[in-house]
Amino acid sequence: MADKRALVVGAGLGGISAACALAAAGWQVSLFEKNDKIGGKLNIAQEEGYTFDLGPSIVTMPAVFGAVFQRAGRDMKDYVTMTTVDPHWRCFFPDGAQLDLNADRSLAGNAKAHLTVDEDGQLDAFYRYAEGLYAFSNKVYFKKPSDTLQDVLLSYNPLKLNHDSDRASTMDDGVRRYIRNPYLAATMNFFAKYVGSSPYDAPAILNLLSYVQWEFGLWYVPGGLYGIAQGLRRLLDELGVDIYLNSEVTKIQTEQGRAAGVRLSDGRRFAADVVVSNMEFIPAYRDVLGEPVDRWQPLEEQFEPACSGLVLHLGVDTQYPQLAHHNFFFSRHPDKHFHSIFREGQLPTDPTIYLVAPGKSDPSLAPAGGEVIKVLPHIPHLGRGLHSDKEYRELRDILLDKLEAMGLTDLRQHIVTEMMWTPKNIEELYYSNRGAIYGVVSDRDKNLGFKGAKKSRYYDDLFFVGGSVNPGPGMPMAVLSGLQTADLILGQVGANPIGT
Ligand SMILES: Cc1cc2nc3c(=O)[nH]c(=O)nc-3n(C[C@H](O)[C@H](O)[C@H](O)COP(=O)(O)OP(=O)(O)OC[C@H]3O[C@@H](n4cnc5c(N)ncnc54)[C@H](O)[C@@H]3O)c2cc1C
Repeated sequence: MADKRALVVGAGLGGISAACALAAAGWQVSLFEKNDKIGGKLNIAQEEGYTFDLGPSIVTMPAVFGAVFQRAGRDMKDYVTMTTVDPHWRCFFPDGAQLDLNADRSLAGNAKAHLTVDEDGQLDAFYRYAEGLYAFSNKVYFKKPSDTLQDVLLSYNPLKLNHDSDRASTMDDGVRRYIRNPYLAATMNFFAKYVGSSPYDAPAILNLLSYVQWEFGLWYVPGGLYGIAQGLRRLLDELGVDIYLNSEVTKIQTEQGRAAGVRLSDGRRFAADVVVSNMEFIPAYRDVLGEPVDRWQPLEEQFEPACSGLVLHLGVDTQYPQLAHHNFFFSRHPDKHFHSIFREGQLPTDPTIYLVAPGKSDPSLAPAGGEVIKVLPHIPHLGRGLHSDKEYRELRDILLDKLEAMGLTDLRQHIVTEMMWTPKNIEELYYSNRGAIYGVVSDRDKNLGFKGAKKSRYYDDLFFVGGSVNPGPGMPMAVLSGLQTADLILGQVGANPIGT
């Protein structure tokens, strides 16, 4: 096998996982990354004594990460430390209601949240439903590299498919079938965040996300999530993967209907048996394969990008004890919030805000007495709504006003250092399609939750990994896409453990 060579374009989690799995199987692998470090959106910055995770902050399904190390006969524990987070989420509502989702699947809330024993029962019934959705997906989607409904039907009884996947429903339909408490329903709907989609448009199958979080836990990496990338970097080095940083691939070269190599911006060329693109498939077809417009534009509707985000990274010189590690500050009208982003392409005027305060688990991220706060409302990708820097700055003010009004007193006065990332910054840094932060949107009508295919529809020996292809976005799924694609290349069904 040592004479087989793979070139991987992009060192995001999908690219890294594919590179590790192929190298562990004996291939010679070269990994090209346009930025100065590996990890892609899993990224880090340090400013004035504060450490910021620029991208992800929530780790679920740690076993998927562990599978990358297992492929190489290693134990992830020797490379990456993960600790559990509890409560999982703390939710603040504009009328003062407050609700915690705890790691043991209990709920805690103040009097305004009107939680009763009945709500526990509703959540339990919902959980069983979510477990069924997970069991379905695990069988046909996580453990198999399915890319279409036809692939799924090869391994699932068609008479049971609609029922077992709750195919006719949206996430919101599924949530409201079980949960009547409006605060709890809004909270469960917000799991759509994990795939950058709207619960009113995403297929109900994505209600499996809450099951996954409770069953396999919500995790943190002390020192910041970039520790995952550092652990993977060690593994790549041990496996002998050649890593080229600051090396942009400007051309995937094709000959006789197959991918034959890559050319870098400095003119260097590399030949390969297989090219794996962690660059999303639409930008790859458009920008580095130079395909005519009729080959990629029709894909834009079915595989519309997921949402983008306006990300504020704040280093503050105080601490807010009311915060948990992961917090949500809800909109007065969660449905309008989602519709403005996903249907109207507007910046939300009263956004639901995801706020991460990782200092609750890890005080080392900030100078004594201070903490790191990441503020992340979802906003439209650049294809849906082109907004000016002035509009993004106005949204920043709306966010800070809302957080101050909902209890983060004098937040502005306490900011020591601040970075603001707009969709344009995200597009430029990672070349994600239209500045999306979670690859392709999950939409029942457009794609039934399926993302792009892992094998190119136009060229042999060209494969895709990452958030734009199945099984989809979010760190664990991006990692799994890399493993599944490696399996396709190797012609094997790999062992890709999902749970615990
Ligand atoms: C702000 C934010 C918050 C998030 N929160 C979470 C979270 O809490 N939990 C979670 O699980 N997920 C979260 N995500 C999503 C998660 O980060 C992504 O789904 C996942 O990391 C994407 O991995 P990927 O394999 O698609 O690669 P990407 O991270 O997209 O990396 C692709 C890499 O390819 C490189 N590249 C592209 N084109 C070229 C080229 N031509 N030549 C060379 N290199 C190229 C890019 O520079 C980049 O490094 C978040 C993302 C963001 C941005």
